Amino acid sequence: MAYTKEDIIRMVKEEDIEFIRMQFTDIFGQLKNVALTASQIEKAVNNEIMFDGSSIEGFVRIDESDQYLYPDLDSFVAFPWRPAHGKVARLICDVYNADGTPFVGDPRGVLKRVLKKARDMGFDTFNVGPEAEFFLFQTDEEGKPTTKTNDEAGYFDLGPLDHGESTRREICLALEQMGFEIEASHHEVAAGQHEIDFKYTEALKAADNIMTFKLAVKTLAQKNGLHATFMPKPIFGVAGSGMHTNMSLFKNGENVFCDPKGEKGLSKECYSFIAGLLHHVKGMAAVTNPLVNSYKRLVPGYEAPCYLSWSASNRSALIRIPATRGQGTRVELRSPDPSCNPYLELAVCLAAGLDGIEKGMTPPAEITENIYAMDEDARDARGISALPGSLEEAIEALEADQLVLDTLGSHVAENYIEGKRKEWDEYRTRVSSWEREKYIINY
Ligand code: GLN
Ligand code: MG
Ligand code: MG
Ligand code: MG
Repeated sequence: MAYTKEDIIRMVKEEDIEFIRMQFTDIFGQLKNVALTASQIEKAVNNEIMFDGSSIEGFVRIDESDQYLYPDLDSFVAFPWRPAHGKVARLICDVYNADGTPFVGDPRGVLKRVLKKARDMGFDTFNVGPEAEFFLFQTDEEGKPTTKTNDEAGYFDLGPLDHGESTRREICLALEQMGFEIEASHHEVAAGQHEIDFKYTEALKAADNIMTFKLAVKTLAQKNGLHATFMPKPIFGVAGSGMHTNMSLFKNGENVFCDPKGEKGLSKECYSFIAGLLHHVKGMAAVTNPLVNSYKRLVPGYEAPCYLSWSASNRSALIRIPATRGQGTRVELRSPDPSCNPYLELAVCLAAGLDGIEKGMTPPAEITENIYAMDEDARDARGISALPGSLEEAIEALEADQLVLDTLGSHVAENYIEGKRKEWDEYRTRVSSWEREKYIINY
């Protein structure tokens, strides 16, 4: 599909669209938009919509604040959850400076830069299939989210009376109307936890899809009186929500990770890509796992990774190679969680993998045992190190990883680190109920 400006103008008229949302994403992964009435559509498709970038966190200072939105015309779609009359459509945009150059602080631009690097290395396509998990919670009388779930169901369960399940079905149907191909949707391990998997696609589109997906899930949950959250670990003691990221690289239409003659049917490039991910995964963590709360998911016992390892099967591993071979050969990174900025996440994943390929890195031996069951000595003996244990450690690891810093670019890196440091500091100085329960009587 390749829309022209004229197509967009015609569709807005024919489909009776009244509002157009010009969308982009800030560095912390929040979806932003400027809403226009249909009368502005010509200006919009001609890249003439201006906004004040200084009001967007981590974007620009007041003195250089005029920025322009350049819509990606192929992203045009009407929101199915709006009324048939007075319809609302969206366009996903790139952010440009007033002088017509791309804004270096635009996360979508960060991903585009790494994709160009991949093409320069001869890789024409980087495909990504995300598996985003989320919780559906009940709301209270004021419409505020609680942590009460509707169901007591578990992994792959069917619940005839499960309100969460009918909401999930509605979400899938709406996404299909927006052009998503839904491959699977199921109840996850925890009560109230769900997963919806949509078909893999080229990385830029995949990141756009993740943003659309989160909006659709939140919007439709709300319409059903529920609250959807992509917070990585909303409840202590039960599974958290991950966003496993399946990746594959193509050259001349062929999957370069597959090699029938290679060990386990995998190519040298595939092993180097894995090695690159392992090499940079700590430096990437502040991006793939961006919240204070992200590190409460990365603990033993809940199918979330904590140690650096890869395996062809083992689900305690950080990187898993699903059994499919041929064009479907892929690497699954299991650390990312759905609170991350998907543009930055995919940019750092690809950059790390490409670094592995460029430098001809080789990964350590495959770990086939359950790593959760090993003690520290056993892990040390096998050279298995751990992911950062907190946002603070992750920020330090990011500051020490030049490739990840360069991939983000100094503008994004500086603003991102500053924001994350502030977040860590806010958390660090708070006194929690756990601390009071633990100490107030004994001390
Ligand atoms: N919820 C788990 C995580 O945090 C994943 C569970 C699964 O999909 N098998 O990553
Ligand atoms: Mg899954
Ligand atoms: Mg899952
Ligand atoms: Mg998975």
